[in-house]
Amino acid sequence: MLEQLRRVTQAVSLAEGRQDTLDVIVSQVCKAMDVEVCSIYLADYELNQFVLMANRGFNPDYIGQVRLDFNQGLVGLIGQREEPIHLQQASLHPAYSYVPEVREEEFNAFLGVPIIHRRKVLGVLVIQQKEPRQFELEEETFLITLAAQLSSILSNTEINELFEPEELGLFTRTLQGTPASTGIAIGTACVMFPQENIHSVPDRYTDDIQGELDKLGAAVKATHLQLERMSRRMQGLVSEQELSLFDAYQQILGSDGLSEEIEQQIREGHWAASALRIVIQRHLKAFRSMQDPYLRERANDIEDLANRVLAQLFKANTEVQEIPPETVLVAENITASMLAEVPMGNIVGIVSVKGSATSHAAILAKALGIPAIIGLEHFSVARIENKKLIIDGYNGQLYISPGQSLLNQYCRLIEEDKQLAEELAEDDGLPNTTKDGHSIKLMINNNLGTDLDKAKQIGADGIGLFRSEIHFMQLQQFPSEEAQCQIYRHLFQEFADYPVTIRTLDIGGDKQLSYFPINEENPFLGWRGVRVTLDHPEIFLVQLRAIFKASAGFGQLKLALPMVTTLEELDECYRLIYQAFDEVEEELSKQGQQINTPQVGIILEVPATVFQLETFAKRVDFISVGTNDLIQYLMAVDRNNVLVKSLYSHFQPAIISVLKQVSRVCQQARVPLQICGEMASDPIAALVLVGLGYTELSMNVSYLAKVKRAISRFDLCELQQLVEEISEFETEAKIKDHLLKKMEARGLGGLVRAGN
Ligand code: PEP
Ligand code: MG
Repeated sequence: MLEQLRRVTQAVSLAEGRQDTLDVIVSQVCKAMDVEVCSIYLADYELNQFVLMANRGFNPDYIGQVRLDFNQGLVGLIGQREEPIHLQQASLHPAYSYVPEVREEEFNAFLGVPIIHRRKVLGVLVIQQKEPRQFELEEETFLITLAAQLSSILSNTEINELFEPEELGLFTRTLQGTPASTGIAIGTACVMFPQENIHSVPDRYTDDIQGELDKLGAAVKATHLQLERMSRRMQGLVSEQELSLFDAYQQILGSDGLSEEIEQQIREGHWAASALRIVIQRHLKAFRSMQDPYLRERANDIEDLANRVLAQLFKANTEVQEIPPETVLVAENITASMLAEVPMGNIVGIVSVKGSATSHAAILAKALGIPAIIGLEHFSVARIENKKLIIDGYNGQLYISPGQSLLNQYCRLIEEDKQLAEELAEDDGLPNTTKDGHSIKLMINNNLGTDLDKAKQIGADGIGLFRSEIHFMQLQQFPSEEAQCQIYRHLFQEFADYPVTIRTLDIGGDKQLSYFPINEENPFLGWRGVRVTLDHPEIFLVQLRAIFKASAGFGQLKLALPMVTTLEELDECYRLIYQAFDEVEEELSKQGQQINTPQVGIILEVPATVFQLETFAKRVDFISVGTNDLIQYLMAVDRNNVLVKSLYSHFQPAIISVLKQVSRVCQQARVPLQICGEMASDPIAALVLVGLGYTELSMNVSYLAKVKRAISRFDLCELQQLVEEISEFETEAKIKDHLLKKMEARGLGGLVRAGN
């Protein structure tokens, strides 16, 4: 059966579009299993019915016509029970429902399996036969395997078919992602893509056909020359046989057929890059489905070659891409460094297919106050360029080519948001307290030294987290001591009378420096934060010196150390901190300047430190809880992985319980405690944190006013009571629901809209 499975999969991979895929499957299954009938019913959730969408063996006129209610017949039962049903004589089963159109009564043997994707029943795959037949166990598992494969194909085609050319612009399409930065944006899609990967090139159209043909010609020529050079360099170093690879490349590149196909796409209006992508992807598909392993392997050569031509195309292209006003930036994987590089002035929204609400790109989007959606499954950016989009950053919904009434509705919501902002501005400058006057320090997380005026105007009590690595990520090499010093001094100048917490370089995980790449299998469990800087004291010491120099003349430097896991690491950090401090103190004293001893704390984000907190508390001046990573490690969910995003929630009972424990230990040890993860940006979560005893919350500036308003509406004892109440609940859903109701009862529903 394995060979049959491979053949079916191969045939399916060559199918074009959803209907073709379904048709191929039913006919291949009939052949492979030697049955008379194979059908695929797909779920229509608007009408709660299964619709016969593909069939072999019945009258084809009934495709799309036969509909069964979700609770009707054996198909309905499979959908409800979410498990296979296998019968020798189907008509004897009590759930059997006769479908006269297809003369089903003639068929006795029945085997049906559900098609399920992420817990959702997408349809049912059925085989039937006249002769009563006991299907083998192996046949059942064959069908189950096929249904599992089909489920991911279906969820894929479902989304990619949204972009069938004839549908573009005609219908509004809605995709669900993760809300990453709240707010609503309406704009036009502009796709950013890495220029060395053929698969990420978006469709773009051109009137300058000859111009694109010339660019292609030049890129191909340059690639020929490059290959020649490579071949010459390798002569004598590798065998003749290996050298022949370059000839093979030259042949593929020079083949008339291939060039003609690409040129044809350009003549149809594609720019050279997407013409190349379309043709290459078509060839890759054919090669990858070949039986011969040697030929299958050639697909990699073609891909490599295409990437080379692509690189040459962009090398020749010196035009800087303009970002027009009201642009929504779309990318397969928007990274923090991408955002740091693009001029943000005209960007109204951000969409990233990969990543999640706490990926660093999302954090930057929040900091910039730009609505963002991250994590859209199976969404291809290729056909989205220039489409009108609505981003609902509250719910994570992305609308493509929205109709006028939807646009009107969202314009109204944008207006409401403006009104809310004006209303919240009434609290600007008021002290940050609970309703009964308990002071809660609300500080800001900052990455680039921007938006500090806004923070001061609202009434921020300082900088609770400065992510120093973002500056490093914007550059092409490590910044000098002086360059860093200027960045940090700006923070002290702006927040002269407040604490300024600078976190030392926290690279690794999803924060990469182009000039210091870290390649790991498991980057979030790898070389991150102080693990890197302790291994590179030359980088760490320069940064520490820059921070100390910048703080000269200002009193309130707090130094936060990321990813500290053990006491040895902390001690080693102290050693380097003292070393840099002593040097700078001596240097400055010669110039008659003084610096104050910094407060040193750890970002508590590794679960191990929670269990050694008493000991850590004795050695530090403060603890700052980094919930973004702490949740990731406690829940064992990659903070960027869309597949497990539902588990990543700060309202999980386990998370609340750990935060409670941390608060208790810090209170007992009398060590100041603050929170700097995204959790503090959520007005509902902020209530819980204050109730748990956290009196210093640090958040993105765009959430400051909302959090300020939320806590000002409750007495401290009410929030403590609230924490008692939610401690009774055993699930995240109940906790969240309870908190939302409390917010609404206080008239604060507008602060959270949905999501958050
Ligand atoms: C955190 O982990 O909560 C944190 C503040 O750090 P980052 O999000 O930059 O990893
Ligand atoms: Mg972190």
